[in-house]
Amino acid sequence: KEKTLAIIKPDGLLGNYTDDIKKTILESGFCILKEKRVQLDEDTVASFYAEHSSKNFFASLIKYMTSGSVLVMILEKENAIADWRALMGPTDARKAKTTHPHSIRAMCGLDTERNCVHGSDSIKSAQREISFFFRELSAD
Ligand code: ATP
Ligand code: MG
Repeated sequence: KEKTLAIIKPDGLLGNYTDDIKKTILESGFCILKEKRVQLDEDTVASFYAEHSSKNFFASLIKYMTSGSVLVMILEKENAIADWRALMGPTDARKAKTTHPHSIRAMCGLDTERNCVHGSDSIKSAQREISFFFRELSAD
């Protein structure tokens, strides 16, 4: 089965959405293979989101992602990468509230930045992101 990396971002944890999000994940047929709560530092976020290093929101993204601890999880199911992205909803949580009202970002997110969850966007990024946080599972 396919694996993907999910993160509940600081606004998700601080807003006490963790239990609701995990319930939604399990009810949607995912297994949570591994999870850990971590406080990211600036260098770690910069490295994780390196693809966005030239974007005008990069500094703000680093500040947001280090504003509190995050919950990092490996999710597994058939088609996990696309299905988790669909369950999260679009990047802009404000838009999600009208276009995807049942998505996690519609329920827990605020705007384009504070959107409460992350999901890998391809097989390649899932492999990279899983080994980024869980070295021991990087082989498969
Ligand atoms: P993620 O990679 O976190 O799963 P995503 O793939 O939907 O989200 P990306 O385009 O990869 O969106 O952006 C990464 C993160 O950077 C977003 O989730 C959001 O927190 C932040 N971000 C994206 N675009 C903007 C923006 N225009 N202004 C502020 N923050 C943004
Ligand atoms: Mg992304």
